[in-house]
Amino acid sequence: MPDLLSTPPAQRLLKALGAPTPAPLRRHRPGDPLLPAPALLGAAKGGTLLKPAEKVVKAAGATVLKKAPDGGGPLGALVFDASGIRSTAELRALYDFFHPVIRQIARTGRVVVLGTPPDACEEVPHAVAQRALEGFERSLAKEIGGKGATANLVYVEPGAEGAMASTLRFLLSGRSAYVDAQVIRISQAQVAEPDDWDAPLAGRVALVTGASRGIGEAIAATLARDGAHVVCLDVPAQGDALAKVANRIGGSTLQLDITAPDAPKVLADHLRERHGRVDAVVHNAGVTRDRTLGRMSEAEWDVLMDINLGATERIDAVLLDEDVLAADGRIVGVSSISGIAGNRGQVNYATSKAGVIGRVEALSRVLRGSGRTINAVAPGFIETQMTAAMPFATREVGKRINSLAQPGKPVDVAETVAWFAAPASGGLNGNVTRVCGQQLLGA
Ligand code: NAD
Repeated sequence: MPDLLSTPPAQRLLKALGAPTPAPLRRHRPGDPLLPAPALLGAAKGGTLLKPAEKVVKAAGATVLKKAPDGGGPLGALVFDASGIRSTAELRALYDFFHPVIRQIARTGRVVVLGTPPDACEEVPHAVAQRALEGFERSLAKEIGGKGATANLVYVEPGAEGAMASTLRFLLSGRSAYVDAQVIRISQAQVAEPDDWDAPLAGRVALVTGASRGIGEAIAATLARDGAHVVCLDVPAQGDALAKVANRIGGSTLQLDITAPDAPKVLADHLRERHGRVDAVVHNAGVTRDRTLGRMSEAEWDVLMDINLGATERIDAVLLDEDVLAADGRIVGVSSISGIAGNRGQVNYATSKAGVIGRVEALSRVLRGSGRTINAVAPGFIETQMTAAMPFATREVGKRINSLAQPGKPVDVAETVAWFAAPASGGLNGNVTRVCGQQLLGA
């Protein structure tokens, strides 16, 4: 169906009603500069993250300023090391840094606030101040969203300063276009940076389930663009579409229903025999069976739960037990905003997607320090066949109720998955990152 609200008369009407006109987002294109304008870096007294951050931003080719340019001029990013803030009074450093320059943030600019995880702070006032950063970052994201600009908070564990590069590059670049108002945690890890940041997955083997269309297709294409060989998996009924995707991206196919009783074994054997291992497993396959609970059939509960959650548990158990997942392997789950905020008519779906978050939380503790990681993306409103099937009014509202006033694209989820899948992201374990443009509904 055409996007009626995007036609000129509808746009005039929306403008008259005060609805925001979305700013075009900056999405990654190979060869693009990291930022549209220079980055201004600053720090509260006593912080430890400014130097490592500056090193990363400079190595990524951006111009770094330490003070705002005389006479204004757009700023591509504002990066502030808040790790030195140890009390309520010292929170004033946020105001002092951002107030004079926030209106200079460029269209599609980036704000990144760096802090210390509150649970790693020994003193109570320190933990309070670090926790307070979240309110600042989330509100600032709402303030600058109209420019297509985003704000995110990165908590860096003490000792994890050397593991920041992949995350800072991701957040500043166009790869994170629809990642807004998130809180990301970087843990201590031995991290090797890639020879080529444009091919961070060179030599890696990735499995993507549900790869024949929609978000899975975009994930497969993005991982292949980043250098991986992608094993594209989908149900046999999607065989033709799957083959087209695999041919286009130079990957291979595996036709398999992930809920089949022998699926974990078939999958493990395939990966071991053809590739010797798998470096990244992306559990993207998922379905909805929307119905209010009172009207929901047993099958609508059971089938969904097994595809979205049960099958992923069984597959990971075998890949881990049999060491098919590489020693520095990555597991990436696909949750949903529904699993965080809940959604009417989706008790089955939201349960399964909250379960995906549960898997990240529980398994990340088991994997901690092992070299392997698990993280998940939680997409908001992403334009795919799944959302095209929504009722018109729900869909048109759903698209716009976020700080960027527009829907996301499958590639936005894919870029976030690629960031988690990278070897240089070894410091990311246990994160659930929403790709939702700071959706305004729910939690
Ligand atoms: P989609 O329906 O377009 O694609 C899902 C794919 O999974 C299909 O190719 C399907 O054949 C495959 N699949 C389903 N059951 C399978 C099985 N048993 N074995 C193997 N493959 C199977 O959906 P999409 O919108 O691209 O969604 C992809 C993922 O993102 C899902 O997990 C979904 O829940 C999640 N998600 C999507 C949105 C959105 O806005 N589109 C929002 C939040 C989360």
